[in-house]
Amino acid sequence: MQKIMVIGAGQMGSGIAQVCAQAGYSIVLNDLKTEFVERGLAVINKNLSRQVDKNKLTAEQRDEILARITPSTTLQDAEGVDLVIEAAVENMEIKTKIFAQLDEIAPKQTILASNTSSLPITEIAAATNRPEKVIGMHFMNPVPVMKLVEIIRGLATADEVYQTIEDITKKIGKVPVEVEDFPGFVANRILMPMINEAIYTLYEGVATKESIDEVMKLGMNHPMGPLTLADFIGLDTCLYIMETLYEGFGDPKYRPCPLLRKYVKAGWLGKKSGRGFYVYE
Ligand code: NAD
Repeated sequence: MQKIMVIGAGQMGSGIAQVCAQAGYSIVLNDLKTEFVERGLAVINKNLSRQVDKNKLTAEQRDEILARITPSTTLQDAEGVDLVIEAAVENMEIKTKIFAQLDEIAPKQTILASNTSSLPITEIAAATNRPEKVIGMHFMNPVPVMKLVEIIRGLATADEVYQTIEDITKKIGKVPVEVEDFPGFVANRILMPMINEAIYTLYEGVATKESIDEVMKLGMNHPMGPLTLADFIGLDTCLYIMETLYEGFGDPKYRPCPLLRKYVKAGWLGKKSGRGFYVYE
């Protein structure tokens, strides 16, 4: 394993590219447009420069890490890679399209991983002719800081593929936890209904957004209130995950709050769009 392609240079993809490049891997960072890749690279540069300021990295090391990341705007660049980690938007249609194309382009032995937060790995794998080489690698946000990676086995994922991904996860300084392929896996099956309930609490006028966040911070010792956390995750991503739980389990307890839908329709996606439950400069 030497060369890794990361698809999607957004919040997650840029973080994944950064930690993999820091561990010494060569990275191809792909997005739909050059400006999106450049935005991701600028975030990585900023993160690494902060580490230089804190004397955790030298300026030379930062430049070497950045030099290991090659920008890309075509999936054709999967031709020479050993592993692909897909971190495009949380949408099954988009993901299956990407995986079907990757299956055509990438070498037969290349492992295709998805950073999906909740979508079935088995279904993504079925879009390819190599379901045994498809696996979930669910990083947490922000990737450079958070230690956990949920590793999700699809129905057909081979044991040696699981082992390879577990080894890489450790090599990039993260802690792997094995999880079976059910909607939301573990992290979002528990987290997202809590966030959705916080949104219902706001929607029903039980308390203000600040009060809801304060209760959960002071009362439950959470480092961040659920509405702030939703803004950080991205409200579009939160909605996709709730839809996946709702559809996957067919249980009304997972229905997304209408207020969440309204915000997403308005383009209020949280921190990344400058406005969600809160306003960001
Ligand atoms: P984001 O909106 O910040 O970034 C997504 C990027 O993917 C964008 O830059 C977009 O241009 C790009 N993209 C869309 N379609 C593409 C395509 N066909 N080819 C290449 N690039 C494409 O979203 P994000 O928060 O980084 O989430 C990405 C994935 O990671 C989602 O599946 C999400 O569920 C998952 N995830 C998110 C979080 C979180 O907290 N935000 C945590 C874990 C996992």
